[in-house]
Amino acid sequence: MSVATTEVAVVGGGLVGMITASLLATAGREVTLVDSLTHLPAHDGPWDLRSFALTPASRRILGHCGIWEALDAARIATFEGMEIRDAASPARLCFDKASAGNQPLAYLVEQSNLMTACHRQLARQARVSDLAAQVLGMTTGTEDVRLHLGDRRELRARVVLACDGRDSPLRALAGIASEEHDYHQRAVVANIRTQLPHGGIARQRFLPEGPLALLPLPSADEVAVVWSTTPEQAAWAESCEDEAFRLALTQAADAWLGEVLVTSRRLAFPLTRRHARHYAAGRLALIGDAAHVVHPLAGQGLNLGLLDAAAIAEELGSASAAALQHPQSLLARYSRARRGGNLAMLAVTDQINRLFARREAPVIGLRRAGLACVERWAPLKRRLIAEAMGQRGDLPLIARPGPSNSPLTRKN
Ligand SMILES: Cc1cc2nc3c(=O)[nH]c(=O)nc-3n(C[C@H](O)[C@H](O)[C@H](O)COP(=O)(O)OP(=O)(O)OC[C@H]3O[C@@H](n4cnc5c(N)ncnc54)[C@H](O)[C@@H]3O)c2cc1C
Repeated sequence: MSVATTEVAVVGGGLVGMITASLLATAGREVTLVDSLTHLPAHDGPWDLRSFALTPASRRILGHCGIWEALDAARIATFEGMEIRDAASPARLCFDKASAGNQPLAYLVEQSNLMTACHRQLARQARVSDLAAQVLGMTTGTEDVRLHLGDRRELRARVVLACDGRDSPLRALAGIASEEHDYHQRAVVANIRTQLPHGGIARQRFLPEGPLALLPLPSADEVAVVWSTTPEQAAWAESCEDEAFRLALTQAADAWLGEVLVTSRRLAFPLTRRHARHYAAGRLALIGDAAHVVHPLAGQGLNLGLLDAAAIAEELGSASAAALQHPQSLLARYSRARRGGNLAMLAVTDQINRLFARREAPVIGLRRAGLACVERWAPLKRRLIAEAMGQRGDLPLIARPGPSNSPLTRKN
């Protein structure tokens, strides 16, 4: 059996794992990134079926480790505004660049663009090694953690960061329980061409079965669709003829961008809410979806994962070698810094999803009045959009706006 050693083992080479590894290496830590899947997602159309709305805070985090600059800028769309509508009433809520300090509200980046940039940046970082393996077991000792890998190899690390996704095997190995709720909804994703141009506006229409989002792609008349709906309708949408989907989507969007003219194939994802009871145990911490899974209606899951990555890099990046030998207090600080904000986002998205599912007339009236009130109250609107963009709140240093975006420095 071969044994390798490292300071920090990052388990999971998804977006959160790669970005965490890159931030730690930028801070001067020696990192080993472990994942059995190393391939990049394949293109099967002009645009990826998976793309992510990223906040300006996420942009700053990616910029800190050089990943933002490694992206193909021509394939990034900016949100110049956002509009929310309730299918059950004429109420609407609009945000524009002026309410967001005259900067884009968010950026839509394809999965393959992000993954390619991460791979490219990691390849340049001498402090990161890759290990193509699956973690099957874990033993925590007084000096280190031993990760037992699928090919009879062993990796020893001072700290293990579990970035291994929503079903996190490491969370289970560490004995950390999580609370889970099944939304009985699935999110159908597709890319469509529409009759009218999107004008850089991200649109969301709340239907009783779930929200339908139309997110601007870089081309003027193409949008990425995220349609949360019943499992039955999602199964139909995945397998029906393009023509039937085109018509159903035009109707669900109330022809917001005119007729849907062309559609890609569709993919559906089950929707759950999940939150780990603890983010740290012994020498291990949970990052990204391993710690929390949120409803995609606010497009925040990956953004929260990147804030986790920035927060853990801040703790571990600036720690002395001696502190890293006993990392429990650093991991506890990370957990305290991130758990409250993530819990708040889980609660808000959950409540919005429930509220817009209600069909009773008094609730519809309340929603209408609430949306109209926020629409008219400019300071509240500015505050809401600043929160959603990661412009305020208790953020890790490198996620904060302005010149405080300073490097993570190391104490010896
Ligand atoms: C429909 C939909 C739309 C969304 N839109 C947005 C959006 O617009 N904006 C946004 O911010 N978020 C969005 N999200 C959320 C976002 O997709 C997730 O939060 C994010 O992809 C989670 O990334 P991750 O790296 O934590 O997990 P994953 O991508 O699941 O990566 C986990 C990795 O761990 C590896 N792994 C697992 N087990 C092991 C093991 N035992 N050993 C080694 N490796 C292992 C896996 O191979 C995988 O590579 C959306 C989600 C959905 C469902």
